[in-house]
Amino acid sequence: MILDTIDFEVVQRETSKLPEIDFDNIPFGKVFADHMLCATYENGKWGNTQILPFGDIQMSPATSMIHYGQSIFEGLKAFRTEDGQIAVFRPEENWKRMNKSAKRLCMPGVPKEIFIEGMKRLIDLDRGWVPTKEESSLYIRPFLFATDAMLGVKPSQSYMFMIILAPVGPYYSKPLHLKIETKYTRAAMGGVGAVKAAGNYASALYPAQLAAEEGIDQLIWTDGKEHKYLEEAGTMNMMVVINKTLITPPLTSTILPGITRASFLELAREEGYNVEERPITVDEVIGACKNGSLEELFGVGTAATIAQVDKLTHEDQTFQLPQISSREISNTIGTKLVNIKQGRVEDPRQWNTHI
Ligand SMILES: *Cc1c(COP(=O)(O)O)cnc(C)c1O
Repeated sequence: MILDTIDFEVVQRETSKLPEIDFDNIPFGKVFADHMLCATYENGKWGNTQILPFGDIQMSPATSMIHYGQSIFEGLKAFRTEDGQIAVFRPEENWKRMNKSAKRLCMPGVPKEIFIEGMKRLIDLDRGWVPTKEESSLYIRPFLFATDAMLGVKPSQSYMFMIILAPVGPYYSKPLHLKIETKYTRAAMGGVGAVKAAGNYASALYPAQLAAEEGIDQLIWTDGKEHKYLEEAGTMNMMVVINKTLITPPLTSTILPGITRASFLELAREEGYNVEERPITVDEVIGACKNGSLEELFGVGTAATIAQVDKLTHEDQTFQLPQISSREISNTIGTKLVNIKQGRVEDPRQWNTHI
C-alpha cells in the first residue's frame, strides 16, 4: 500500500509485530520495529528513498562493503517523554558526524532531508514502538555502506543508506570492571578512530574477548604508540574526576567525538565544575587510585549515557574505586542529562527534536 508519494514511498506492513513484544524483557538489538528506511546512491545522486516493512536485503556476493569495509553507522535514541511525546536527542549531530565518517571513507554524504526527515517519518510511523517505561527507549541505527558488486580496490560508485529501529531496555545494569589495555590498540594516529567505521568495532572484539575471559567487562584503550595515555572506555568516551576536576582526553584523530561527551562537558561547565580536556596518562590515574585522589571514573555514550566503573585493573593490580553514590559530578550531570533526554526538565538548548 503506498500512502504517500510526495517525498518518498511508504509501504506499510500489513500486520504490526508490536503485540508480540514483551517490553519488560527486550533483548538488546534483537527486536526491530515494523519498518525501515532505505535510500540509494547511484550515478552521483541520491534517490529511491523508501520506508518499507523491516526485512532482509539482497546483495551480490561481490558487494564491496563485504570485502573492503566501506561501512559506517550512527546510534541515537528516542525517548517517550512524560507528556507522551517522542523526543530524539540531538539528531543533527549524528547526521553531521555520519557525513564526516563518510568523507573519511570516500563515501557520499547523506542529504539532511533523507537522514533527518526520513528518520522523523520512520519514527512517526512506528511511534508505538517507543517504550513508555522509564530507562527504556527506541534505539535508532542509521548506517551507510558500499554496494558496488566489484572486487577492484577503489571507492564504490553506489551506496545504500538505511535506518532501522530497535526498542531497548536499560543498557548496563551494574558498575563495570575495566582493564587498561597495554598490548592491543583501538585506533592509531591518522587512522579512522575518530569516525564511526564498522571496522573499528571488529578490531576491538578479540582483545575484549580475551579480557572477558578474565572477568573484565570492557577495556580502557590506550594510545597505539606508547600505551601511555588513556583514550576511550570500550565504545564510550572516558572521563575521570581527580581532585574535583573533571578530565577527559582531547579530541584527536584517535578519539570518537561523542555527542554524549560534548553534552556532558557543556552541562558540567555550565554547572561551574572545573573541566579539562587534556591527555591523561596511565601513571596519573594509577597514582590517583593509590593516593585516594581519584574520585570518579566513568564512560559516556548514547547506549548508557553514564556507565560507572567501580573496578580498575592495570597489569596485575586491581583497584576498588570510590562508591558510586559518592560521585558528585557524574551523578549530578548524568541525572541532568537523562532528565533532559526524557523531557522531565527544561531544554534551553533545544537538544530534543520532538516527533
Ligand atoms: C559511538 C561511540 C562513542 C559515543 O558516542 P555518542 O555520540 O556519545 O554515542 C564513543 N566512542 C566510540 C568508539 C564510539 O563508537
